[in-house]
Amino acid sequence: MAMTVAFQKNARNVFFHILTRCNLRCRHCYVNPEQHGRETLPAETAKRWLEELIHEEKETNLIFIGGEPTLHPGLPSLIKAARKIGCASITVDTNGFFFNRILDKVAPEEVDYFSVGLDGSCPEINDFIRGKGSYHKCVAGIQKALAGGFNVSLIYTVSQWNIRDLKKMPALLTTLGINRFFIQVIGIRGRSAQDKEDGLQLTRKEWAAVVPRVADRAARLGIHVTYPKVFLDTQDRFECAGLVADNYFVFPNGRVYQCPLCEDFPLHSYVFKKNKLLPNLPINEKNLFELSISEGCVMNKLIQPGNLIYDKHGKPKYKIACCLLKEEINGVNSNRR
Ligand code: SF4
Ligand code: SF4
Repeated sequence: MAMTVAFQKNARNVFFHILTRCNLRCRHCYVNPEQHGRETLPAETAKRWLEELIHEEKETNLIFIGGEPTLHPGLPSLIKAARKIGCASITVDTNGFFFNRILDKVAPEEVDYFSVGLDGSCPEINDFIRGKGSYHKCVAGIQKALAGGFNVSLIYTVSQWNIRDLKKMPALLTTLGINRFFIQVIGIRGRSAQDKEDGLQLTRKEWAAVVPRVADRAARLGIHVTYPKVFLDTQDRFECAGLVADNYFVFPNGRVYQCPLCEDFPLHSYVFKKNKLLPNLPINEKNLFELSISEGCVMNKLIQPGNLIYDKHGKPKYKIACCLLKEEINGVNSNRR
């Protein structure tokens, strides 16, 4: 049975984009170099920012992300530094190419998870979205990481391109030996927004008909599954993570956001200046978090209103949940640590 994962005030999640460069050009990539910068953050600067971001009283969960973070030659030293300063967990979000022999340069105990993106159960689906040859390269990378004793999870971003394929993923995860599965929903931002890709988002009916069932099937196979809540009934309580949680999305040009949906705009709450984390004044995303509208998330209404439906009186038929609100099912045979 899926449980909604309540926002946590006593933990801080830091999504650290240490570069925006990537070897792939996925159709749905949300990275926006115009807004996020093109530089590779020097490892020494990244370490100083990490010291600013760690919270003394809260557990800090750190996610290294990009671009492709394994393209950063300093990633192994950053992982070790993050361990040393006391991060509670360290995840590396990767496309599975595992550059710079990263698997030889860190130990399995130093990384909680390599979280690998794969958007199809076969090359035909995945490579249409992520590029020719990426399926086989990614699967080979996963197998190498597992053989090396690393924990591997898999992220699948669902859109109209691959929703019909999602049902095949639990069997693939079982075959590969992966016991943690994140189902993500496509966001109309970054490349999806720039290319004006139409009709990629899922309707509530499509989401409800497919995602919870696939998640349930995966959980029955012993896989731990997490997926976004996305839709709320009108009587459900709405909460904005910008107000009730502690998330930081850090980019190499110094911008620090609290909401992923704000990332295409200069609305970041904070900014690194001279390696100090400072508030970004005067108007930023925090001013939007406090607006209360009957559609739920304000940013969703501004940038991807295609997922809303109204009745004949102009009232929304449901709310859109905060994009950071997740459902979670514990697999019955889960053996993750
Ligand atoms: S692997 Fe990630 S960063 Fe690279 S193009 Fe794909 S979505 Fe973007
Ligand atoms: S997605 Fe919406 S609800 Fe969530 S933090 Fe952003 S503005 Fe707030």
